[in-house]
Amino acid sequence: MTEMSYLDGNMLDGPMRELFTVDLSSATGRCENCGMTGSMASLHVYSHAPGLVARCPSCEQVMLRLVRGPDRAWLDMRGTTFLQVPMPMEQPFPGPL
Ligand SMILES: [Zn+2]
Repeated sequence: MTEMSYLDGNMLDGPMRELFTVDLSSATGRCENCGMTGSMASLHVYSHAPGLVARCPSCEQVMLRLVRGPDRAWLDMRGTTFLQVPMPMEQPFPGPL
């Protein structure tokens, strides 16, 4: 009997931490609504809402919402098909082999 082994979500901490500490202004995102791909720095950000709302510069669809509470944050990226982040050359992630 073979069973696919898996690790619990805690192992994502290292890889995700590496991803979320990069400079997102150099990242590229694709709008789910119109398909435009462009730099995150080109988004139109509205800060006079309960949080930050970033809209596509082409179709004005919401691509990202970020709300920061006193002790937590919510990140909603439903309007973004993908986020491409420039990374340094591959570095092995620590963890069990
Ligand atoms: Zn768009």
